[in-house]
Amino acid sequence: MAHLKWPLVGVIVPCLLIGSIGYGTHYNIIREKSTTVQIIYEICLSYLWICYVLAIVTPPGSPPKNFTPEEGQWKRYCHKCDNYKPPRAHHCKQCGKCVLKMDHHCPWTYNCVGHNNMIEFMKFLGMIMFMTTWCGWELGCKALDFYHDRNLPSYLINKWQLVSVIVFFPLDIFVFISIFLLWFRCVSNWIFKGMTQIEVWEWERIDSQFYTNRLWLQIRKNYQDLYGKQLPKLTSCNLPTRYYEERMEEEGEEEGEEDRLVDEQFEMDDLRDSNQDNDTYDESVVPEEFTIDDIIFPYDLGIFSNIYSWFNNPFLWLLPVKPPGTGVKFEVTEFYELDQLSLPWPPDGGNSFPPDEEVDVNSFSGQDLRNITKLRKKLDPRSRTSRNDWVNDYGENIGDFGVDIDTETYSL
Ligand SMILES: [Zn+2]
Ligand SMILES: [Zn+2]
Repeated sequence: MAHLKWPLVGVIVPCLLIGSIGYGTHYNIIREKSTTVQIIYEICLSYLWICYVLAIVTPPGSPPKNFTPEEGQWKRYCHKCDNYKPPRAHHCKQCGKCVLKMDHHCPWTYNCVGHNNMIEFMKFLGMIMFMTTWCGWELGCKALDFYHDRNLPSYLINKWQLVSVIVFFPLDIFVFISIFLLWFRCVSNWIFKGMTQIEVWEWERIDSQFYTNRLWLQIRKNYQDLYGKQLPKLTSCNLPTRYYEERMEEEGEEEGEEDRLVDEQFEMDDLRDSNQDNDTYDESVVPEEFTIDDIIFPYDLGIFSNIYSWFNNPFLWLLPVKPPGTGVKFEVTEFYELDQLSLPWPPDGGNSFPPDEEVDVNSFSGQDLRNITKLRKKLDPRSRTSRNDWVNDYGENIGDFGVDIDTETYSL
């Protein structure tokens, strides 16, 4: 998510792009169409402006003053707002306030995308894609016309049309692709994962640090603090597949053991034995048979429920609809009961333990070298960075989403 040095430039740039491409295409190309088409075009362009203004002025929602976390929720006090943050809320550095279900701070709308204005933000992106498709189609057809008429004498060519095609067509395609990528990233995370962009970032951080003592010392401490007892032994729902895959690999080395493979494929004791030579982390801290996929994200309700909980009914979008709920309390998936960690999200709540020692490649066992995913994560230098400094594959740290890291404290 981009950051701008001068915030108002973020609003001026889209205004210039919408104004120049929108009206430039009408004046030079679409005015050759019928009056009805021109009126419809102007109505759509005006609606795009309305959507943009709404995305700028609609507040994302702030926590109520009297909010106090329930038992079992993170107590996250914002010393800048002098108030507790509800789950999924963060303090935005640019907006200077806590934002409900904060997704990210958008520099192009000079506003945060949060619980109350997701629909406005989506409508704006949708209208940009619709209008750039329309303009792109008209400009593309005109470019083809010029190509077909390339042998005409130049005095028969409309110079302004040619200039507008040369300038606006690439600009239009650039805007469409940029907005489409942003839209795709947001919508796929919201609908298919039920996560805000910040929660996806958090998930990826936990994934990349999954085999570190630091993460598990913190999770074990949090469990002890919340339940007053030690974290029980964790098991994996993905075990049969993993077990089978590992046995298949061993089978490649020890030929003639097919029968044994079939007989013993689900015996967990064997897997434990096969992990015994794994001496690169403390097995009493990092669980042996637990993977990132065994963590259940509490707010992923399934595709259709996710759509409704984020966007209300999209067929009502031409009306001023609001998303359901208050943005303070969220429905939790029924599968959350099966979550073995039973901790509020994120389960580690930042990190107060020192980072792990540098990984010594020479200490890797044969077992380590066969598990490429685990190996990759252990060698990733990000496994030793703190939450404040951790960056995702796009190079974004949590501050790049607008989150004020000075206010990010977690306690139970
Ligand atoms: Zn705040
Ligand atoms: Zn903001």
